Amino acid sequence: MKSLVLEEKMKLSLRDFPIERDEALGQRDVRIKLHTVGICGSDVHYYTHGGAGVFQVKAPMILGHEASGIVIEAGSDVTTLKVGDRVCMEPGIPDPNSRATRMGMYNVDPAVRFWATPPIHGILRPTVVHPADFTFKLPDNVSFAEAAMVEPLAVGVHAATKAQVKPGDIALVIGAGPIGLVTALSALAAGCARVFVSDIDDAKLELAAKLGAIIPVNVARQDLANEILAATDGWGVEIVFECSGSARAAENIFDVLSPAGRVVFIGSQMHDIKYNVGKAMVREARVEHVFRYAHVFPRCVAMLSSGAIDVKPLITRTFEFDDSVHAFETAASAPKGEVKMQILLPQ
Ligand code: ZN
Repeated sequence: MKSLVLEEKMKLSLRDFPIERDEALGQRDVRIKLHTVGICGSDVHYYTHGGAGVFQVKAPMILGHEASGIVIEAGSDVTTLKVGDRVCMEPGIPDPNSRATRMGMYNVDPAVRFWATPPIHGILRPTVVHPADFTFKLPDNVSFAEAAMVEPLAVGVHAATKAQVKPGDIALVIGAGPIGLVTALSALAAGCARVFVSDIDDAKLELAAKLGAIIPVNVARQDLANEILAATDGWGVEIVFECSGSARAAENIFDVLSPAGRVVFIGSQMHDIKYNVGKAMVREARVEHVFRYAHVFPRCVAMLSSGAIDVKPLITRTFEFDDSVHAFETAASAPKGEVKMQILLPQ
């Protein structure tokens, strides 16, 4: 019964880690045996930096929040799930009575408890107890690997929803990491005719170009604004999704935006992003921000099942649980061409 524990910055261990919270199963909870867990940029950031913004790792913490598994026990009031069901889980549990939750925006509830965000433990461990309301049954044709992609995919779907994509819109996604690519897939599924994806990693852009109507732009040698304006008769893109978190990438974000365009900020930033409000004004641009997602998991599962979105090409590497420290070392080295790495728990 080992867990992957971040002891402190740059120190991971696989060891027994009893968690009392797991022992009690509430009436509306299920106990889940974990199957597949994706490695997220945030997990890697906690490992390499010991924290992110206001969230600092002050005590040993289990990592991981992108997960699928199997229900092994169900509370007495659970009607939607039963033992043996294959599921994926939404990692943030809000206070059901908070003002934000009652407004329908439970993702911005300040009291939300989110896996692997200090001080809440993640799920790179054998089992977890979770509310049935945040646990979603998988159709037979959605694999555990795909299901562990629902969490990052939910960010892209939430962003496309915020952008109010209209059929035939042309979009730009800045950044070809996992979030950039799930956002591009979500924008296409929402009706975009084409999506430009910009990055400096040729291997990631090559992968992106195979995902559908995606036009890769390597900003290390191509001028993004020139490329986009030339391809759109000088009009620009209707939507920009900023998924790089890079202040430099975002600096000239309005130069490629059409009149009445929308910009959605998704990538978390190491440094403050500044932009030219005047350029936003003359376009009457709408600027949106997303923080995780709300009410999106069932939509993601439905799209994976129907084939509207295929995340399988984004899963570039899988590690056994015993090898998970190595998996994190590999992820921290930011290898070129790797998009999503996953860890398989022993079954
Ligand atoms: Zn994640």
